[in-house]
Amino acid sequence: MKTLSTSRSEDEDLVCIVENDACGVDTIQAVAGCSVGKGNLILRDLGKHAYTFIDRKRGRAIRIIQRPEPLIERIDPRASELRAKVMGGAVTPAERDEFYARQAEVIEKILAIEIGELFHIRDVPQDIPERAKIFKSVQCTRCGEMVAEDHVRMKDGKVVCIPCAGEYGRGW
Ligand SMILES: [Zn+2]
Repeated sequence: MKTLSTSRSEDEDLVCIVENDACGVDTIQAVAGCSVGKGNLILRDLGKHAYTFIDRKRGRAIRIIQRPEPLIERIDPRASELRAKVMGGAVTPAERDEFYARQAEVIEKILAIEIGELFHIRDVPQDIPERAKIFKSVQCTRCGEMVAEDHVRMKDGKVVCIPCAGEYGRGW
């Protein structure tokens, strides 16, 4: 937001394309005001800590990528080792306490680091995503539930929702 000289998105002027479904995405929703419901959070789960922010008003886009060096290891190797144990569940209460104490210190250190040391940030060419549309709902002829018009399928010549249409694929 500092790089784009913008503030929290009250409307849909700031759009974010996220490339993972991890906890960082929650931060973007809370801090940047980009959310699925507002139509300005686009999730492409590619398993990357990469985020493209688009300022619709100015037509500028930046891509933010987490630097490859594992930070916790660099800051506190012991915390990194304990983290693996905590995540794996094979940890003593004393080790758990030590991990959370060390993690709090690591967080403080991360927050004090200059942003360029944490992420690569660069301007990128980016098509401006369309604003969210509102579609009419129609009733599925099979289950009776309402479904947005752009999500219906046809089955035996009748309008149905996606689950009622059933999967069909030949592995291509
Ligand atoms: Zn249905």
